[in-house]
Amino acid sequence: MPARLNLTRRAAIAALCTAIGAPAVQAQGAPGPITLIVPFAAGGPTDIVARLAAEGMSGPLGRTIVIENVGGAGGATGALRAARARPDGSVMVLGQMATHALTPLVNSTVGYDPVHDFEPIGIVANAPMVLAARKDVDAPSLAAFRDFVAANAGRLSFGHAGLGATSQVACELFNVMADAMPASVAYRGTAPALNDLVAGQIDFMCDQITSIAPQIRAGAVKGVTLMAGKRSPVLPDVPTSTEQGFPELEVEVWNGLLFPRGTAPALVEAANRALLATLRRPDVAQRLAELGASAPLEAENTPAAFRDLIARENRRWETVLRRAR
Ligand code: ASP
Repeated sequence: MPARLNLTRRAAIAALCTAIGAPAVQAQGAPGPITLIVPFAAGGPTDIVARLAAEGMSGPLGRTIVIENVGGAGGATGALRAARARPDGSVMVLGQMATHALTPLVNSTVGYDPVHDFEPIGIVANAPMVLAARKDVDAPSLAAFRDFVAANAGRLSFGHAGLGATSQVACELFNVMADAMPASVAYRGTAPALNDLVAGQIDFMCDQITSIAPQIRAGAVKGVTLMAGKRSPVLPDVPTSTEQGFPELEVEVWNGLLFPRGTAPALVEAANRALLATLRRPDVAQRLAELGASAPLEAENTPAAFRDLIARENRRWETVLRRAR
């Protein structure tokens, strides 16, 4: 009876730990694989960095990490699933600027509090957004593209990952700047939106450089602007929004790992250590650089710093969105 044996073993270990006062079972969390919820479709920017983190962290944690893509509602469906999971270390979420700042600010029905319902672990990657268009759009500059969208808004559409997704909010900032209302098409993540942009089903979209740069380099879509203050070495020919005179379009997205609220501090610390060990690996650092992304300095990549960032970003975006409305 293997199941019973297993239970008996667990009870014996728990009794031993109680006897010696060590929280060993707690620090290890529930047995079995860890589910890492990616709140968007497979193949998009959130998914890419989640898989990098999962592959690197499973060794140091001694646990298999299984990715579960739960897209919808600008990432809120997946984030809510994580917020409601048992806080035993068996479920974490790759949260980012959408799920933990924007989506809850624009949608009061998300069902979770991004600041209080999670135990932040650390940041996996920061990456700037890119505004890209159908490859046959003839607009040699951001100003020309703005004029094109303003003149043709009734016939144009942009794709994104749902209300409050960074892909939606970044493009809405552009739409406000262009004073235009093109049709808005929601997907479960930016990977399917990018497929439709390549196929010419939609006219433009905004996405993190991590997943969109290869399509720009291949000429499958047109890189209109990097929504940043500094050019990226992975897209050296795509001018920034700031150098083209639109600094208000700078959008850098943070992507990090979180457990549900109530997860034991020992589990959070162990996951943070595994994340830092992963980011320290030269092959992982090189992969992040190839993707156009970066990780924070190790000393600044703590659970406490991530918690502060989420609170700060909620305040900052509340102001930006209020002004944009
Ligand atoms: N992170 C993207 C967004 O916020 C979606 C994705 O990763 O697929 O729009």
